[in-house]
Amino acid sequence: MQLGTYSMGIGDRFGLQGKAQLRALQMAAREGITITPVWNKSNREHELVHSEPIDTRLAAEEAVRETGWGTPWFLDADHISRANVDRFIEHCNFFTLDVSDYIGRKAPEEDTKRFLRSNAPLVDSKSSPDLPDLTEGLLQTVAEKYLYAVMEAAELYTYIHAHKKDFICEVSMDETDTPQTPGELFLILKALSDYGVPVNTIAPKFSGRFNKGVDYIGDIEYFAQEFEQDLLVVREAKKQFSLPPDLKISIHSGSDKFSLYPVIGRLIRKYDEGIHLKTAGTTWLEELAGLALGNEDGLELAKRIYIKALDRVDELIQPYRTVIDIKREHLPPAEKVYHWSGEEFAAALRHEPRNPSFNPDFRQLLHVAYKIAAEYSNIYTQNVRANEKVIGELVTDNLYNKHIRKLFLNK
Ligand SMILES: [Zn+2]
Repeated sequence: MQLGTYSMGIGDRFGLQGKAQLRALQMAAREGITITPVWNKSNREHELVHSEPIDTRLAAEEAVRETGWGTPWFLDADHISRANVDRFIEHCNFFTLDVSDYIGRKAPEEDTKRFLRSNAPLVDSKSSPDLPDLTEGLLQTVAEKYLYAVMEAAELYTYIHAHKKDFICEVSMDETDTPQTPGELFLILKALSDYGVPVNTIAPKFSGRFNKGVDYIGDIEYFAQEFEQDLLVVREAKKQFSLPPDLKISIHSGSDKFSLYPVIGRLIRKYDEGIHLKTAGTTWLEELAGLALGNEDGLELAKRIYIKALDRVDELIQPYRTVIDIKREHLPPAEKVYHWSGEEFAAALRHEPRNPSFNPDFRQLLHVAYKIAAEYSNIYTQNVRANEKVIGELVTDNLYNKHIRKLFLNK
């Protein structure tokens, strides 16, 4: 199973925008850029919208059929753990083993000792000029902070592998408070290799904020240095450890990072490395913008969803607290939104950084408000279908012009 050099996490909360997303990937293909689509939907999302992995598979199959997509595609059990992996096994062929919750827990002493002893030769060895300095302190830190998480990834991998021989394996450590440095990433990859996890994609936490649906917040120069070192670390890890030759970095909360795409694009091309970029979550925001710009019922529904979300901010952001940052005082009050036109609603919501009406707090709240849309159930999906044309164009435009072109085509 080959993921290819470039791949993107696509899909959407309600499984209705697969075709519009594949169209964007087909446009990329016409420009000579091959991107493998991966439908990703986390356990958290399935819980909130009461869907099942089989629904995602059926939606993906339908989109593939209707667009005539002829190259491989995958289905990602995104952010899963041993507690919830079972229902994904039959339907998925890509598993994102989320071990963030295990970071900082103490590994058994025997494992810690073995890890420190067997990797002592790496310390100060400078096996490549491209690698950051590997000190004894760093090795110790990784043993204390990450070894247990790696062991959990190994357990989960073994469990899935007992049921399924061939799948793409991602390990994610992004939903945690402190970033992993490139040196730590190198030793984490060594630990994954030691414990027999053939990781294809690794999602570290980078420095700065990767909030859902909005641009990167942080020092772009610093990020560029860190990301370049991460790429070199991955390249060396593939050479030195027993890891798959297609190992690459995965970026979660990857949509809307407009200020980073030129940097990431330049660096992956410089080193001829691959990337996996997860963007699925924000597709539903294009759906909402399309509802607002569509017919009257669509606008009414979009407003209702926001007004309800305003009453339930705490509940909605709770599952996303490490990847969302809402300034409540900037949220427009219900009375104001109630009188908005479709254009006003869409302008506040759509991520056009130069549009003074764009409101990132409004956008982030709506990003997590899909739970409310799910409560509208058939009413929501009927409205989406009724405005399919407007919505589909927004979805394709968002993915192609704002993401693919900036990241892969440097345009
Ligand atoms: Zn993630």
